[in-house]
Formats: sequence, structure tokens, C-alpha cells
Amino acid sequence: MTQDEIDAVYNILLQEFKDNPAPVIDLMAAQGAEPYKILIATILSARTKDSTTSDVVRNKLFPALNRLEDLDSMTVEQIEQLIFPVGFYRQKAASLKKLPAVLHEKFGGKLPQTVEELCELPGVGRKTANLVVALAFQKPAICVDVHVNRICNRLGIVSTSTPYETEEALRKILPQRLWRTWNACFVSFGQRTCTPRNPKCNLCRVSKFCQTFKSQYEMTQSRQKEKDKGMRPANPAS
Ligand code: SF4
Repeated sequence: MTQDEIDAVYNILLQEFKDNPAPVIDLMAAQGAEPYKILIATILSARTKDSTTSDVVRNKLFPALNRLEDLDSMTVEQIEQLIFPVGFYRQKAASLKKLPAVLHEKFGGKLPQTVEELCELPGVGRKTANLVVALAFQKPAICVDVHVNRICNRLGIVSTSTPYETEEALRKILPQRLWRTWNACFVSFGQRTCTPRNPKCNLCRVSKFCQTFKSQYEMTQSRQKEKDKGMRPANPAS
């Protein structure tokens, strides 16, 4: 895909993102939430519906926290109760309980601002770390989750097998000005249109740029030609 086409896809998806409710973490960042809250909400949001994460952080967990260190004085069971029913709430509660001590021990209690350092914290992988760098610290980072990975491959922007390979490839392909907001555009689009199963290609506004769509169209055309040939009456002159 050319750079102009990438820009065109981005602009269309950005507009779609703006026309729909923003994912909870983007909304928190836009509302100026403190970095530690963005980190916690991002940890909780993995494999969890946005509406559930939003409800848990706004109505249960954050009202009980004045600062990140408060997690240290809670028991794992208390944290579990505060974050239920997010996905994998037991593992996430155990990670949150350890967070203040690890942060203090490795980074003097201050939240680090690089992907590599953030990945040293419990419950934080590259996806979470990139999102925190991009949204909490407003620094260039590309968060590649399942949606970004799937759609970038379908469109033909990258040809990769894992989210990490996609992240590495996108770093080389995308201009830095697109990095921070790339994830939000693709997550929104992946939840509504380019879904994991049965993508709604007939409603897709970027189909003319999509490699998968082109291949499927060409395949359908060639099958139709074969079918037409088979149905054509034999030439009477032959
Ligand atoms: S045309 Fe289909 S596969 Fe391609 S990006 Fe759009 S929804 Fe996804």
C-alpha cells in the first residue's frame, strides 16, 4: 500500500472513530486522567468489554483509590471484589496488588515512560505498555492488539504473523504522526466493521484499498467466468 493510501485509510477510520463513542481508555486520556489510572484501566481492559472496564474503574475501583500506593494496603481479595467482573479478575488483582512494591523497587515509585520499562511491571505486556506511553504520556508508540494485527494484515499494510511483528513493521511504515491514534481507529473499526468473523465488507468504507477484498472480488469474478463458459451453448459451426 502506498503512503497516500495509508493516509487515506487512516483519515477515513479516524472519522469513523470520531463518529462513534470512544473506547474507555481514550476517553480517560482525553479527560486528563492521571497516568497511573490509565495504566490500571488498561491492565483491566484486556479481554474485557469496554462497558465493564468503564463501570469498574469509575464506580468501584477509582473511588476507593486516592493514589496507586493504596493498592498496597488492600488485600488481593478486596481488589478482586473491586474489579469483578472484568475478565481474569483474579490474575489482574494479584498483579495490581504487586504493582506499588515493584514500582517502588525498580523505579523509585515513579511510573516509567518507556515501553521496555513499563513491561517490567506486573500484568503489563507490550500492548498495555504502548497504549500507556501513547495515551498517558503522549509519546509516539504503536499499540498493536488483535484488531490492529488482523486488519493491517487484511488490508495488506503488513504481512505478519504476530502482533509484535506487526508493531515492528508498522514502526517502519507509518509516519510518527499516526502512531498514537492508530490503535483507537482500528479498534473501533474492528469492533464494528472488520470483525474477526464475517467482516462487513459490503459496508466497509476502505474496501477499495483492501487487499483481501480485492483478492476475494477477483476470485469471484474468475469463478463466474468459468461458470459462464460452462453454460455457453456449443458453437454450431464446430
Ligand atoms: S473490505 Fe472487508 S476485510 Fe477489508 S478492511 Fe474492509 S471489512 Fe475488513
